[in-house]
Amino acid sequence: MLGDVRSPSVIVIGAGIGGLSAAIALAARGFRVTVLEKLDRPGGKMGEVRAEGFRWDSGPSVITMRPVYERLFRAAGRDVRDYVEFVPLRPVTRYFWRDGVVLDAVTDEDEMAAAIERQFGKRDAEGYRRFMQYARRLHDIVAAPFLYRHKPTLRDLVRLPIADVLKIDALRTMHQAIRTFFDAPHLVQLFCRFATYNGSSPYRAPATLNVIAHVEMAQGAWYPRGGVFQLARAYERLACELGVEVRYSTPAAEILVTNGTAVGVRTAEGQTLNAEAVVCNVDYTFARQTLLPSNGKRQPLEPSCSGFVLLLGVRGRFDALAHHNIFFTDDYPCEFADIFDRCLPPSDPTLYLCVTSKTDPEHAPPGYENWFVLVNAPYLSPAFDWRSQGEHYAEHIKAKLMAWLERICGVHPEFVVERRLTPQDLQDLYGGHRGAIYGFSSNTRLAAFARPNNRDPQIRRLYFASGSVHPGGGVPLVTLSGLAAARCIEEDLC
Ligand SMILES: Cc1cc2nc3c(=O)[nH]c(=O)nc-3n(C[C@H](O)[C@H](O)[C@H](O)COP(=O)(O)OP(=O)(O)OC[C@H]3O[C@@H](n4cnc5c(N)ncnc54)[C@H](O)[C@@H]3O)c2cc1C
Repeated sequence: MLGDVRSPSVIVIGAGIGGLSAAIALAARGFRVTVLEKLDRPGGKMGEVRAEGFRWDSGPSVITMRPVYERLFRAAGRDVRDYVEFVPLRPVTRYFWRDGVVLDAVTDEDEMAAAIERQFGKRDAEGYRRFMQYARRLHDIVAAPFLYRHKPTLRDLVRLPIADVLKIDALRTMHQAIRTFFDAPHLVQLFCRFATYNGSSPYRAPATLNVIAHVEMAQGAWYPRGGVFQLARAYERLACELGVEVRYSTPAAEILVTNGTAVGVRTAEGQTLNAEAVVCNVDYTFARQTLLPSNGKRQPLEPSCSGFVLLLGVRGRFDALAHHNIFFTDDYPCEFADIFDRCLPPSDPTLYLCVTSKTDPEHAPPGYENWFVLVNAPYLSPAFDWRSQGEHYAEHIKAKLMAWLERICGVHPEFVVERRLTPQDLQDLYGGHRGAIYGFSSNTRLAAFARPNNRDPQIRRLYFASGSVHPGGGVPLVTLSGLAAARCIEEDLC
């Protein structure tokens, strides 16, 4: 453990979840850490918006893998419960289909199996139990080597017992595997949806990613009381308590490299800050393009999908809705073909609706609700221009939402406040390459091996912590990415 003025200093570029996690882990080990953030707040994509008495999270809404946050805070000698109240959600999600089927997903396996049996029959209830066993087995095999350690190599894969290699089910797609467990197309669709948790398509991503169903359906999902943004505030508070200096509204312009070693950062204002190591929390591709000397290589990986967000203040209270709701499209293959093949926003998308005022009523004025609507969207390409076509698409989505509410509750909701975030905004605000939400997609079998490392292979003392590097996107994995980058620095500098 280090910890005086001679301790090595580290600059972290970006106060997103990855950057703050790395800063916390490093400061807890005695490093002197400075975080440079271009925005005026922590959290990056984990943001919040307030307007006219309403409050919304503008990024993540589902928090899984609670032990990851416990681990981060424990590494700093703290108890996460002193910083964040994790509220378990029940149901985790309410699923709606156009044929009138409604299913509440709960984490209790017996209760969930009983609900499936009532709705779809005994065979599917048994299929559900078998599927959950299969997802748990996947978790047992892949969690340690793929999530909690250094980036896995193909050699690690070869070292796994042959029986385990077969069990990770990387040769089938998620959809091919899921449909062997269920007769009801509803359940196939429900479990395919977990591909979107890392911005991929269930028709392309390897079945190994069915592990995500275990993470949410067996381990549970939480809502940080006060809004998901409270988690970013908690990271910021802990970092500051540990002596991290966080400089907001301070964009980095360049990572300084001398003789193949990262030696500091030049800010957009022209200040030079020296350091023994630099952690880059900025999206990997974007950082390569804007902060580092060009090495002539192009990143061939496919970005993850992006998202189109509507934040709506809504008159009335809608008892048929839960905290998390999904309104499924009738044609899931077409939705993903729109996103990943045609690079167009889906014409008939699945709508995700989160209403935090169900759990925190003060997030909307009395008699109103705060709706966060998310539609999966393609990463930016010339096929669709959000600046000129975003308005029209927003109207399209609101009409879809109205139709759903009419069907479910027989009423037309009245939207009194509206804010939007398009894939273009996600790129412009956070520097997410092509507006990708989760870095790179996992649409190929070897995506986990192709993802960039936390330690740069060419430039010494340069490290990456974000959703675009190992182990991937989503709040818990990005937190693990920060811990992995900090571990690399400790190995190299201590
Ligand atoms: C709409 C939406 C919904 C989501 N839903 C979920 C969900 O339900 N559950 C889940 O787990 N995940 C979800 N995610 C994904 C999750 O938010 C991300 O995986 C995670 O927050 C990414 O964190 P990060 O640290 O990698 O990057 P970011 O959050 O992008 O942080 C990068 C930081 O770097 C800063 N930066 C960029 N350039 C510079 C520069 N030059 N100098 C200084 N600072 C700079 C940015 O301002 C930003 O603060 C969602 C994301 C979005 C957008």
